Amino acid sequence: MIRFEQVSKVFPDGTVALRDVDLVFDEKGFIFVVGPSGAGKTTLLNLLIRRYLPTEGSVWYQDRNVGKMPSRYIPGLRREIGMIFQDFKLLPRLTVHENVAFGMEAVGRPHQEVRELVPYILKLVGLEDKMNCYPHQLSSGQAQRVSIARAMVQEPKVLLADEPTGNLDYSTGWEIIQLLQQINQWGTTVIMATHDRDIVNSLRNRVVRIEEGVVVEDNAVGSYN
Ligand code: ADP
Repeated sequence: MIRFEQVSKVFPDGTVALRDVDLVFDEKGFIFVVGPSGAGKTTLLNLLIRRYLPTEGSVWYQDRNVGKMPSRYIPGLRREIGMIFQDFKLLPRLTVHENVAFGMEAVGRPHQEVRELVPYILKLVGLEDKMNCYPHQLSSGQAQRVSIARAMVQEPKVLLADEPTGNLDYSTGWEIIQLLQQINQWGTTVIMATHDRDIVNSLRNRVVRIEEGVVVEDNAVGSYN
């Protein structure tokens, strides 16, 4: 479903963020991408949504070469591959409902569909009673749930999570992981960058470990020690 073929990424200042990466991610997996800060995890995720172009090699999504696809296809790609972040990236002046509806309206989804789907998804992530709150009225865990809801209304095939528990305390982090596992069981591929050893070692998922831009380990049932 996703394939990295001999991918290297060198930034204009000469930083080599990834080097000769070969990876295949199958549909419906839940994969951890681990490694220390600066290893290249975020770069890997950003190559998948065409925020960055590979310097060498190619990134494939389904049968499409992501780096070579015409730019008119990028919005469609980013609907199929959603992303959530450590810092949530919610719009502070919009309510929870509006934050989630915003992306749907931006792509012209019918009003009726927005009216039905947004409360439905907010209920799935356990936020039905926060719909009219603003981001500053939420706990960090709730804010992350909103960002997950915002990704889910696009009904993505793949969800990229960049350190989604990085700003959360231990038990809240676990609640978010359980939600991501649920989303994965509903059929969405989840690729999560993290350096949280506890989470990685508690689940028996595939683990891809990157160090200094190189994939140094790829285990179907992995750990991170
Ligand atoms: P991680 O997500 O594992 O912490 P990143 O992918 O963010 O790592 O970064 C990998 C390397 O690329 C680091 O050395 C980082 O400083 C560098 N890097 C990331 N983004 C840029 C950029 N836009 N310009 C130059 N260097 C960058």
